[in-house]
Amino acid sequence: MKAPLILEIRGNSLDDGPGIRTVVFFKGCPLSCAWCHNPESKRVQAELAYDPKECVRCDACIRACPEGALSRKNPEFIDRKKCTLCFACVEVCPSGALERVGRSMTVQEIVEFAAKDRPFFKNSGGGVTLSGGEPTFFMDFSSLLLSELKKKKIHTLLETCGFFKWEEFSKKILPHLDAVYFDLKLFDDAQHRKYCGTTNTGILANFEKLISHRAAGRMTVLPRTPLIPGITDTEENMAGIASYLQKHGIKKAALLSYNPLWHEKSRKIGVRNDLADRTETSQWMSRERIERCKSIFAEHGIDTGP
Ligand code: SF4
Ligand code: SF4
Repeated sequence: MKAPLILEIRGNSLDDGPGIRTVVFFKGCPLSCAWCHNPESKRVQAELAYDPKECVRCDACIRACPEGALSRKNPEFIDRKKCTLCFACVEVCPSGALERVGRSMTVQEIVEFAAKDRPFFKNSGGGVTLSGGEPTFFMDFSSLLLSELKKKKIHTLLETCGFFKWEEFSKKILPHLDAVYFDLKLFDDAQHRKYCGTTNTGILANFEKLISHRAAGRMTVLPRTPLIPGITDTEENMAGIASYLQKHGIKKAALLSYNPLWHEKSRKIGVRNDLADRTETSQWMSRERIERCKSIFAEHGIDTGP
């Protein structure tokens, strides 16, 4: 079974589904969205993050590194070509400025961690959300995790980019889900290829199969579109997605607010991104722009309210 590294398990979330939730963030994604809010979740492998703001300049890490990859003379501090990800530097760092991103956890460990919050789930109508990265990238692991959660009668929700093989998904994942938050980012396939690195044809086909399946059962499916200034928030893309959803009888969707703080996260793992140079993606979105996006959906009969 291909096991993922886990980025983080975050309790007490109010943003990732109904009620109070515990969110399990997987590391690894088949898409490569230029604006990814969790850039540290894109790669499957562990990574080394460095936050200069936390560094107390003790230089213990420089002395500990067997590869000579750390140097004050290097403006980036870490020479990532030399770094072998041994994490000896993380072991000696007293301040947390150096951090290992991604750790192994068994299904049982995750379930035990999440089950501690069952009283909160029960009182609030919450549960566990699998997020990422992309949980369906690890189909067998996610299947086992979801089935163990359901054995404990915990509400389960999947946040997905929709890029998966339907046959496998419908057998291994779908039977254990109570809800799906399904991302539709760019309606135009050429734009999707340009900014997300893959075609969207299979994603749209999976969405349509999912809503047909939902119609036959009790599962909730919420389409979501992240608002990325100048990329997904264009009149053309908003109208394209809204009319597609309208055609499929969708009355409720979510528009996710843009958060430019991902630039900082990218810098910590040494990833340079072209969008960092665009003024529009370095700022928060204006209230007017968000309202305009909502109004385009409203014109198609789709509620994007809380
Ligand atoms: S992870 Fe290992 S090789 Fe990389 S900088 Fe730290 S000590 Fe050096
Ligand atoms: S060990 Fe940590 S605090 Fe000390 S110099 Fe290295 S990164 Fe900075």
